[in-house]
Amino acid sequence: LKPVKIGICGLGTVGGSTYQVLSRETELLSARAGVQLYVSHIGARRDNPHCATADTRVSRDIFDVARDPQVDILVELIGGTTVAKELIETALASGKHVVTANKALIAEFGSELFALADKHGVVIRYEAAVAGGIPIIKALRERLAGNQILWLAGIINGTGNFILTEMKDKGRAFADVLAEAQALGYAEADPTFDVEGIDAAHKLIILAAIAFGMPLEFTRVYTEGISRITPRDVDYAQELGYRIKHLGIAKQSEAGVELRVHPTLIPERRLLANVDGVKNAVMVEGSAVGPTLYYGAGAGGDATASAVVADVIDLARDIAAEQRPQIASLGVAQQNIVAQTIVPMVQVVTPWYVRLEAEDRAGVMAQITALFSDEGISIEALIQKAPSAGESKVPVIVLTNAAAQGRLDAVIAAMDKLESIADEIMCIRVEMLDV
Ligand code: NAP
Repeated sequence: LKPVKIGICGLGTVGGSTYQVLSRETELLSARAGVQLYVSHIGARRDNPHCATADTRVSRDIFDVARDPQVDILVELIGGTTVAKELIETALASGKHVVTANKALIAEFGSELFALADKHGVVIRYEAAVAGGIPIIKALRERLAGNQILWLAGIINGTGNFILTEMKDKGRAFADVLAEAQALGYAEADPTFDVEGIDAAHKLIILAAIAFGMPLEFTRVYTEGISRITPRDVDYAQELGYRIKHLGIAKQSEAGVELRVHPTLIPERRLLANVDGVKNAVMVEGSAVGPTLYYGAGAGGDATASAVVADVIDLARDIAAEQRPQIASLGVAQQNIVAQTIVPMVQVVTPWYVRLEAEDRAGVMAQITALFSDEGISIEALIQKAPSAGESKVPVIVLTNAAAQGRLDAVIAAMDKLESIADEIMCIRVEMLDV
């Protein structure tokens, strides 16, 4: 078999697992690729005690790997958007294909890097960048190519989903579960990327760019985190037959493309509502196929390595056939990528969950329902709870029919002016995920 040489930069969680999978399964993987795969060079500034590198060449300067003329495919697993970007640029300029798991880098600099790869006649593959081990990029880019993508919705951050699952199952508070997630090593030391939705937004723009053939414009994703969700909201949602999930949603509508990451109530009977713990899942609605669902491990060394190695095998097959990989990075050639109108959030129409505290006296409930009907919003369900001991106000939960955010904002602004309603009002979007 013809040899294809792989260089791995970064020997942390994913880098270590990728090296181990490639070393452990060399024969099987080489048979699949039709070439002799082997890791010829590792770039790691220090050893990984969990990953023995046998007699594989190791350089402390990762750029030695990017410049090594022997290396055919560079696997970037250092993360971040500065050194990683420079490393990939160096590898592309040396005529190497690149495989990466780096969603932040692809989301923020993908367009520039894909253009550079084109210029050098090589490609960048990034299956592991979205939903870890789940092969959603290949599915969306290639196996759903016969469809117009109508919408997709995904649980694409395992840490956030773990927190919401614990809140639901054990009635725990957000901050308490977050501390545990950090201790378990799920969440980053700075958890903002996970819980404020930035990581999910990185992944969503990648999926949307493929689904709609649009540029990777990360900053245009509306991003709302889960830190303000309370155990009470999780309970009330359940009472109404819903679960709260942190979803990334990309949807084609007449007004343009909706790109949004936010907490969402979804009916408990939907499969997505039952994706718990650190697992990820993405639902894609195609014009011909209808709904499809992809579920599995969204993180973890071995699961992510599974996606990295699949990209390596794809590229190795092309190298063996001495052909330039034919599938464009986003599934559409650079010159056919078209900018889309992004629908402003005030125009995005969804049903709403609204929780407020109102005075428990005659007429207040009528006042509340009148505010909704003044804005043309009809009420699907309304629950009034008993007051807590010593409280004069009672929790009221309203589930509305579909309404643009602009209309709901007007209702909330009117409520803010009423003495009978407490200042803090919680609004969460609802998605029926109808198929
Ligand atoms: P990690 O465990 O922190 O490993 C990163 C490795 O890169 C470490 O060996 C680190 O070396 C090295 N590194 C970082 N910056 C470097 C630099 N400037 N120069 C040289 N080496 C450098 O991270 P990871 O979890 O494997 O993540 C790697 C990538 O995979 C990231 O882009 C991440 O977003 C992505 N990803 C991870 C997962 C997952 O489950 N972990 C899932 C999907 C995607 P030191 O040890 O010396 O710092």
